[in-house]
Amino acid sequence: MKLEVSVRKRYENFSFEADFSVQGARIGVFGPSGSGKSTLMHLLAGLLPADAGFIHLDGVPLYQSARGIEVPARKRRIAVVFQHAHLFPHLSVRANLLYGYKRIARAERRIDPDTLCEVLHLGPLLGRGVNALSGGERQRVALGRAVLAHPRLILMDEPVTGLDEGLKYQILPYLKQTFAAFGIPLIFISHSLTEMRLMTDEVLEFEDGRLTAQSGVEDLARRR
Ligand code: ADP
Ligand code: ADP
Repeated sequence: MKLEVSVRKRYENFSFEADFSVQGARIGVFGPSGSGKSTLMHLLAGLLPADAGFIHLDGVPLYQSARGIEVPARKRRIAVVFQHAHLFPHLSVRANLLYGYKRIARAERRIDPDTLCEVLHLGPLLGRGVNALSGGERQRVALGRAVLAHPRLILMDEPVTGLDEGLKYQILPYLKQTFAAFGIPLIFISHSLTEMRLMTDEVLEFEDGRLTAQSGVEDLARRR
């Protein structure tokens, strides 16, 4: 995956500006709370309009203010997983998982739901309602749903923040393994260096709405 970004976004009390080009299958976005990580994610996913600039994914413009291009979120094929799994509360685990999958053409379905359920250990949960699930189980369902939508990119914003440590380090290797197995590039957002080292190779560091560094993850670890 190659991502070329030059965007500006201004709120009343916060201005975000980023210019970078990054290539790889596992990109990290690192920085303290309030540094603009989520703003970047929302801009990439098309969930927030930028003020100016461009976003090119694999050479294709998703947003380009000069040419009036702004691909709507649902056409970007970018899946997002938030800190708290946003599942459809009235649907079963199975229906949540297959939500995006059922909406894509049969010929485009590369990923086998049964295989995915095996990887994520979701089999025993399929018939259950989502309200009875634990935090870790909910997050695995959210991940499975995102993967089954066949995105060309997955954005994860603090996906395991708030889960207990044991669970966290059970889930992260799952995620890594799943994306590798299905060849889906990942942008992983976190304020945790440990998570960065587990999940990413190349890291963009933000502070107060500005990109302050771009480096390999081990380089980042040495500087901390
Ligand atoms: P991070 O994800 O690194 O914690 P965010 O991108 O969520 O950072 O937020 C960066 C700053 O942008 C915050 O300090 C917040 O004040 C501001 N911000 C985020 N969303 C809005 C909004 N909808 N309206 C006004 N300000 C916002
Ligand atoms: P919880 O939030 O209840 O701790 P977990 O995500 O830890 O949920 O796991 C729930 C269930 O998923 C476990 O009881 C187990 O059956 C299955 N599971 C989790 N991790 C693994 C694993 N590494 N290997 C096999 N099964 C697992």
